[in-house]
Amino acid sequence: MKKVFDVIIIGAGIIGLSTAYYLTKKGKKVLMLEKKEIGSGSSGACDDMILLQSKKPGILLQMALESFEMYKCLSEELNTDLEFQTRGGMILIENQEQLKIMEDFVRKQRSYGLDVELIDKRDVKKKQPLVNDRVIASTYSPIDSQVNPLRVMKGFYMKSIERGMEIDKPSSVTALKKLSNGYWEVVTDNNKCYHAEVVINAAGAWAAEVGKFAGVEIPIKPKKGQIAVTEQIPCVGETNIWDADYIVTKLDPVLAEKRDRILAELGIGLSFTQTLDGNYLIGGTREFVGFDTKTTYQGISNILSQVLKFFPVLRNVHIIRTFAGLRPASIDGKPFLGEVKDKEGFFIAAGHEGDGIALAPITGKIMAQMICGETLSLPVDELSPDRLKTHCKPS
Ligand SMILES: Cc1cc2nc3c(=O)[nH]c(=O)nc-3n(C[C@H](O)[C@H](O)[C@H](O)COP(=O)(O)OP(=O)(O)OC[C@H]3O[C@@H](n4cnc5c(N)ncnc54)[C@H](O)[C@@H]3O)c2cc1C
Repeated sequence: MKKVFDVIIIGAGIIGLSTAYYLTKKGKKVLMLEKKEIGSGSSGACDDMILLQSKKPGILLQMALESFEMYKCLSEELNTDLEFQTRGGMILIENQEQLKIMEDFVRKQRSYGLDVELIDKRDVKKKQPLVNDRVIASTYSPIDSQVNPLRVMKGFYMKSIERGMEIDKPSSVTALKKLSNGYWEVVTDNNKCYHAEVVINAAGAWAAEVGKFAGVEIPIKPKKGQIAVTEQIPCVGETNIWDADYIVTKLDPVLAEKRDRILAELGIGLSFTQTLDGNYLIGGTREFVGFDTKTTYQGISNILSQVLKFFPVLRNVHIIRTFAGLRPASIDGKPFLGEVKDKEGFFIAAGHEGDGIALAPITGKIMAQMICGETLSLPVDELSPDRLKTHCKPS
């Protein structure tokens, strides 16, 4: 006999797991299908930031602020220490061109209620005494925070299992079919077949592949990010760090043209954040190289040159490992959240690119509200899968 569920979630990354948590909280009978292991995708190979400052003013910043509030209580709710901490964040500015753009960016973010300001060189030095003199100013937000994504996934998973979620892994979805009784049939490579009223595609960078099984073209591609991990060292400064170069070149095409060719090709934007254990994660690249997750000498050496440019004091610190993950990058930089038009019961929750850890709690909550037909915590119409005219074929 076929096993029947209310909801089948494809992909046990942070987005699928958060969605499972909020659905099981509402009493839904959930099955999770994962082709490898829990967290084997991007959610297990990434940084740990709930970085509010990098979000463009608009729905993504609203979602990040909402998630930030949710994360404050999640350790207790999930009965797992998520290593949530708020150390604040600074985006370092090197020249007047960057300063002008960041002034405007900060002004807009403040209008959305984000606690962020610009600080001058003297105040930068107070917070980051070891930073190089090339920094002329910085943004500063006291509320930029971080969590351990592995612990978040574990917390969501354990609670969902407690509430009756089933999981089949390793089990790769290979076919999806809408049946005449309104149910979806989901077939896996281990010859299992499941039925459910609702299927959620939470397959991250692989969401396009899964979409094809339902006859839906989803414009999400893998964007590789390489990271270097240092040995455990004392805290270098008061906050975590990013550089403005990458952010301003995304906002200003003229500056993008002038950008160093290698940095532009590798899509390098510096992030320098410390885990609770004292290791620094130094990132990262943004490369469209398919599903390749190898780290490269060129990628890692350029990331390290960037951090040494700002913090020469780190030159004798050891790198203990490197890794790379695949950000699920949608064509317009925003995730797809919602049901696909003309594919009743087929939902997408994917495409969070570099924000999936920050946005996971609110994404899961909203997906559960959608599926249960409730009022949404935030209006996410602009994230609807319909916006990119997904081309539907008969399934
Ligand atoms: C270098 C790097 C740094 C990052 N830093 C941050 C950060 O600081 N803050 C932040 O918010 N975000 C960050 N991100 C982004 C974040 O990691 C992602 O947005 C997030 O992990 C996406 O989660 P997901 O659940 O959508 O995808 P994934 O975690 O990739 O999960 C998708 C799952 O689907 C499974 N799957 C795929 N196909 C199938 C199938 N056919 N059948 C069954 N299962 C399938 C995969 O095996 C995988 O486990 C970073 C990413 C990278 C790469």
